[in-house]
Amino acid sequence: MRPTTCRYCKYQFHIKEDIKLQWKEDLLKCPDCGILYCVLPKTERDLRLLQDKFIATRDEKIVKEIYVILYSYTKSLFLKSFSNITTDTVVIEYYVKNAISYFIEQYYVDNNFKIKSSFGAFLLFKLKQAIFQKSEHLSEFSLDYQLEDGNYSQFEDSKGYFDAAEKECDAYILINHIKKLLIKIGDYSDSPFENYMRELGLSLHLHKGERHADSLYRLYNKEGKLIYMYTLDVLRSELWKTADLV
Ligand SMILES: [Zn+2]
Repeated sequence: MRPTTCRYCKYQFHIKEDIKLQWKEDLLKCPDCGILYCVLPKTERDLRLLQDKFIATRDEKIVKEIYVILYSYTKSLFLKSFSNITTDTVVIEYYVKNAISYFIEQYYVDNNFKIKSSFGAFLLFKLKQAIFQKSEHLSEFSLDYQLEDGNYSQFEDSKGYFDAAEKECDAYILINHIKKLLIKIGDYSDSPFENYMRELGLSLHLHKGERHADSLYRLYNKEGKLIYMYTLDVLRSELWKTADLV
């Protein structure tokens, strides 16, 4: 297994599979220098720290700090990925600012919204939204252009710039949806203990396999097993639904 390297003190270390999730919960802390988000590049790291602060306090001043970083980040993402679309600084500015406001809006429409993997990927997705959205206020900068014969031609994403960002976003939406479902089904447990056993069984099932979940319920006289099975059924049908969309 390749070691993990702290970007800031260069210390190399191994994070065992079974504590990886906990390590993420503990904000990717370097075991040597103690810096948080130690594997992330500076911009992503700064944004994560500010995001944590904002989520904890909901302080508007932090949004302004986030905005400043997002502004230069999004601009450089635009130049890297979409410079073939336009070099007009006014238009670029327009797209960049729209993308950022779509992005920041997320924190207000969804209190649980939190970037956990990459701000860059999500910003790319929001840039795409800003550029391609067919809404009134953007039509002025539409990428469709009129041909001499009067027909319209549409800009095509022939290089697949958005595939990665879109996948990331789809995964984010799916994961969030599943998380909400898993929590919601817990409301149908008869007791906190039953819910605890349900979560324990699910976690064993997903991480180690069905046999381990079975042994757990055998050990505890089937406590929580029914609702665990019900949760699996719901998960299965939800995942089928997403498979249908592909
Ligand atoms: Zn370090």
